[in-house]
Amino acid sequence: MNFEAVNDTIYPVVLCDSSHRVLVDCGYMGSLPKIEEALRENDIAPECITHIILTHHDHDHVGAAAAFKKKYPGVTVMASAIEAAYISGAAKSLRLEQAEQLQKSLPPEQQAFGEAFCSLLRRIEPVKIDCLLNAGDVLPFCGGCQVLATPGHTPGHISLYIPQLETIIPGDAMALINGKPVIANPQFTLDVEKAAASFERLMSLKARKIICYHGGPLNIN
Ligand SMILES: [Zn+2]
Repeated sequence: MNFEAVNDTIYPVVLCDSSHRVLVDCGYMGSLPKIEEALRENDIAPECITHIILTHHDHDHVGAAAAFKKKYPGVTVMASAIEAAYISGAAKSLRLEQAEQLQKSLPPEQQAFGEAFCSLLRRIEPVKIDCLLNAGDVLPFCGGCQVLATPGHTPGHISLYIPQLETIIPGDAMALINGKPVIANPQFTLDVEKAAASFERLMSLKARKIICYHGGPLNIN
């Protein structure tokens, strides 16, 4: 599914099988109504979402997770142990650390923009992680959903691989720009070398479909 958010279309995925409805990544802060609308457009009742998997702690991926959990408390929220610390608010956001550092070197004309970004990051509502994921876990969704460690964009970033569907959900380990798979937002990537290795690892899986959160689906023949 997809919906437009902040002049930007994002592509959260829902994995559906006979007993699960798993939302992968959860939109910007304030976007719960858009998520609900996009789910209904795809014939999925929001209250039927059983799990939310958060690929990493960035505001465009976890922004609406707390609001979702509040409204639909039955949902199980999952993330890697490393990202869980930031998502739950136990540790200070690395993205905020990065933005505050950058703020010091911004030219005067960009100070207001930088401060607005920092303040946005400070307002991300933490959400408790119900289930910690580890690299190598195989989740019982769609015949087996593999959790892959794809660090770089953030240290605990995960991607999902569903062999039965020959599909990868890369979060921000990959983005699609003009139809080409690329490393997402290199300027925000916390470790570029690791991000490059993660990108190569995903490409080497030879999946037939990669659904990028930024850019949408890529079909590979
Ligand atoms: Zn993102």
